[in-house]
Amino acid sequence: MSVTLDGSPAAEGIAEGTVFLLDWGIPVVPHETLEEGAIEGEVERFHSARAWAAERLEEMKKVTEERLGAVEARIFDPQILMLEDVELVDGTLRYIRENRLTAQRAFEWRMLELQAMWSRTRNPMVLDRLNDLEDLMIRVLRRLLGDNDPTDLPGQAEGVIVVAPNLTPSLVVRMHPDHVRGIATDHGTRTAHWAILARSLEIPSVVGLGTVSRQAREGQHAVLDGRIGRVVLDPTPEEIGRFSERQQRLTHWEEESSLIASLESVTLDGQYVELRANLDLPAEAAQAAAHGAVGVGLFRTEFLVVGRAAMPAEEEQYEAYRAVADAFPKGAVYIRTFDLGGDKFPMFLNMPQEENPFLGWRAIRVCLDEPELFRTQLRALLRATAHGDIRMMLPLVNDVEEVRRVRAMLEEEEDRLDRDGIPYNSGYKLGVMIETPAAALDAVELARHSDFFSIGTNDLVQYTLAVDRTNTRLAPLYNPFHPAVVRLLHQVARVGRAAGIEVSVCGELASTPLGVFLLLGLDITTLSMAWPSLPEIKKFIRDIRVEDARTAARKALAAPSSKAVTECLVEGIGDRVDLRVFSGRWSLSVPE
Ligand code: PEP
Ligand code: MG
Repeated sequence: MSVTLDGSPAAEGIAEGTVFLLDWGIPVVPHETLEEGAIEGEVERFHSARAWAAERLEEMKKVTEERLGAVEARIFDPQILMLEDVELVDGTLRYIRENRLTAQRAFEWRMLELQAMWSRTRNPMVLDRLNDLEDLMIRVLRRLLGDNDPTDLPGQAEGVIVVAPNLTPSLVVRMHPDHVRGIATDHGTRTAHWAILARSLEIPSVVGLGTVSRQAREGQHAVLDGRIGRVVLDPTPEEIGRFSERQQRLTHWEEESSLIASLESVTLDGQYVELRANLDLPAEAAQAAAHGAVGVGLFRTEFLVVGRAAMPAEEEQYEAYRAVADAFPKGAVYIRTFDLGGDKFPMFLNMPQEENPFLGWRAIRVCLDEPELFRTQLRALLRATAHGDIRMMLPLVNDVEEVRRVRAMLEEEEDRLDRDGIPYNSGYKLGVMIETPAAALDAVELARHSDFFSIGTNDLVQYTLAVDRTNTRLAPLYNPFHPAVVRLLHQVARVGRAAGIEVSVCGELASTPLGVFLLLGLDITTLSMAWPSLPEIKKFIRDIRVEDARTAARKALAAPSSKAVTECLVEGIGDRVDLRVFSGRWSLSVPE
């Protein structure tokens, strides 16, 4: 009997292989006390284990930098910093000296204390930090106990799917895509450092599967789809057939994508659709360009703050923004200012714990309250305008006052740059993301103060329907084809057109065929998506007619339910396209 488990997609791709259960748990540390004379020896041993771990991490950072790039390599910084953390070091030394514990026991106690302190919150950002802490804990404890380094992965046979409760960056960075075909974990998030590495290494991964490490058996056959977040253990021949059909289609698409990348993005009846890429890391820019993006519609800048102990310096930000601008010398690059809060909590801001973080101190609200953080980013952005068509985009705007305040700050920073003789291009554009019903309904006013609108449907759907986008239990209710969402999209498109400003969509809706059909029907012809979706979406666009989309959208606007909206779209597409070939989340509502 096959077992199907659904989790969250963490790294694209389809994999088939044999389960390799990875047990990298925290080792058992015996409780021993020391003779008075042994204390200083243990202190020494602790310091030397620390020095050894720092060296190992620096080595790993170097290998990662060579293999994947400088940004990915920084993933090891939090652990290197933790080794120097006074609270950690002094706490451990106190346990050795005052409680006469062995170095390993003292270190374990201190780490468990820190873990307990941090686990009180359920913030994914802190959870990611806990994951770093665990990684470090295992490495140092094993060293002190005289065991092997856990990152020396035992026998990586070819063609395995690694199954584990969770993973760590140092484990993943040692995996080779030739050996490890896929990763499936009980816990973890898409933003975990190890998941970011898995994406860069192109190892398909699914996280948050709950019990996969308990349900899977060593050597069992498994298939995994990192695009929809599904794992099937002991799949039936039909299931294998479905997966391998998708796999073949993907491989075929990958081969086709370089060809498609150079084709025009136009519908059968001649409507040009501008396709841009969403980037989470600057290193993705080259892939995005190779997959046919003509610009960057959303560059999320949170990678600069995730897991960092200090605010990112202006120079580092400037280099990152400039790197993306350089990758798109002819295209526009929309850089979103820090979208913190919600599910992203940088360590250095000491953000208060909130009952409803998605309704709380988030995005533009944080930036306006933290001028040092925000002004540094604005300066870096202004400097980057000298190197390309950089456009600044503000998340979660509700009120024109927020835009006015940012403009005033920008003017002041421009004056400073002028005084210092630093170049920038004063013709840059500043626009807002439409992510709340308030912004959509107040679009007329916002359009007077914005150079463009970019609709963030991921948030717009969550706020319109009052459905937490991260709550897997509510996933069936999180439906972007709800009539209320369709009407808001229509309203924003109409207002933008009347005001003569560009309206684009950069939420996930733009990476699904039904979503694209709806958006084109509403006359939104600028779309931005994660780069792996670009070829299939372009192919879809080349197979449809915008006139059909408009007719379907008109019907959808009058449809009484989400189901009816979906039906209008499916019917409008007709048999021009086989919708079953698409792997996006909402294509699943189309019968397989
Ligand atoms: C959105 O909300 O649709 C969006 C693109 O931003 P994010 O997913 O980063 O919140
Ligand atoms: Mg958003």
